[in-house]
Amino acid sequence: MLACRMEITHPPVANILTRSSGFLRTVCSHSLQPYRGCPLGSSLCGQGCYVRHSPWVTRGRAWGSFLEVRDQAAESYLATVARERAWARRARGSFAIFMASATEPFPAAERRFGVSRRVLEAMLEEPPDLLIVQTHSADVVRQLELLLRLQARCRLRVHLSIETDRERLPGLPPPASPVRARFAAAEELHRRGLEVVITVSPILPIADPPAFFALIARCASAVVLDHYIGGDGTPDGRRTLATPLPGAMAALEPESVQLDYRDRMAEVAARFLPGKVGINVDGFAGRYLGATGGARSRDET
Ligand code: SF4
Repeated sequence: MLACRMEITHPPVANILTRSSGFLRTVCSHSLQPYRGCPLGSSLCGQGCYVRHSPWVTRGRAWGSFLEVRDQAAESYLATVARERAWARRARGSFAIFMASATEPFPAAERRFGVSRRVLEAMLEEPPDLLIVQTHSADVVRQLELLLRLQARCRLRVHLSIETDRERLPGLPPPASPVRARFAAAEELHRRGLEVVITVSPILPIADPPAFFALIARCASAVVLDHYIGGDGTPDGRRTLATPLPGAMAALEPESVQLDYRDRMAEVAARFLPGKVGINVDGFAGRYLGATGGARSRDET
């Protein structure tokens, strides 16, 4: 069930631009979290969310039960962007921002607080070299015009997560944003000329793989597949194995809890998006499988 009570706080923001480390290091120079905590944490995606395992973020609170609204995010961005841009170009070759890796930038609360919208407006004034907007929410279409203006000022990709074609997985909570709504959002963004990448992350049992990837090919320019094995911050998926997610996946499709499942689905995806299928961190960085099966570099990030 979705959490019905949410602790909302408004802490001061010291520095909204975080220099990337770990798996994000080859994806971007910085991550940017407009919120801390995530209202989607009690929904389907929250079950396999690697952030829920971070004691630094949760500080003992249940994932999905709290939201820190970072009201001064845009001001912090503008105050630090010159320094961070110079550092990123010198140290990483490019000023590339991933928004957001540890929260949802467009939860329902964004309609009230507008933190992500104000950050995007600040980026219009001081654009990065590359912006990757990562979301699980169809609400991203509410910022369509702003994203189109930003696309004229920097390279921009919208990563929209759609992990399966199923609206429900028995035994697990529903997604916060229905699958059909996210596909409709992707279609609209793509139709208006934005670069849309569907992130199937972590991959869940897909009922009709050819139909699923054919649909993705109609509303996106690329697809990224990620499995909880190797994708949850542990090499063997042990964080996720401690949650109800693998059991629910296995009940529907026993093979889906094996890493091979991701690769078999990648083969299906490649029939519909040749040269535009990314795996794990390479995919998030825009490095896609080539005709020979090797990843190739797309962005100098
Ligand atoms: S939207 Fe992202 S950060 Fe939030 S619970 Fe889902 S996977 Fe985690």
